[in-house]
Amino acid sequence: MPKKGKLLVVSGPSGVGKGTICKEVVKKTNTTISVSVTTREKSDIETEGSHYHFVSRPEFEKRIANNEFLEYAEVFGNYYGTDRGITEKLLEEGKNVILEIDVQGGRQAKDQYPETVMIFILPPGRDALAGRIAARGRGEDEATLKKRLDAAEAEIAIGKEKYDHLIVNDRLEKAVKEVINFIETKTGEQ
Ligand code: 5GP
Repeated sequence: MPKKGKLLVVSGPSGVGKGTICKEVVKKTNTTISVSVTTREKSDIETEGSHYHFVSRPEFEKRIANNEFLEYAEVFGNYYGTDRGITEKLLEEGKNVILEIDVQGGRQAKDQYPETVMIFILPPGRDALAGRIAARGRGEDEATLKKRLDAAEAEIAIGKEKYDHLIVNDRLEKAVKEVINFIETKTGEQ
């Protein structure tokens, strides 16, 4: 039997670059990223099954009723959730699993698996964050961009209070190295 993997929650406001950091971490460690289920509309630059599993609201609600989510939350009016069965199977196989999720979901994961490693990615500053959110090219309108920026500030306050480790993404390489170091310390892998 392989040693059970660790659950790693990586949160941070939208636009902070957590997706890029997580992809680099996966390349360099025995880690995989969980593909979330969402009711959000797919943008042109996303693909089904790679960025998310895109489902309808009734389908998502059916899965909630069947207790299929390890955690789920409503963010910006859409549901996002982590499939419990797939995640537990990966952990059983000895893989470390990254959940790139919001702070509400992070709390649910930690409540169920107290060993969960909690990492929060911070932007170097507010202006940098606003610029990155706008530059992602998803074609979102001004009101949505403002909602994301306001939510980002609320999320940062929770992250600073509740997460084990805060990492400032001022330089990608440095942030990746810090995340890997932290994971290795917590998982006992070198
Ligand atoms: P986006 O629409 O920008 O892809 O994601 C919006 C927010 O939803 C981000 O903060 C992201 O981390 C969060 N999110 C993505 N997947 C999940 C998930 O499975 N569960 C929870 N709780 N949040 C998620």
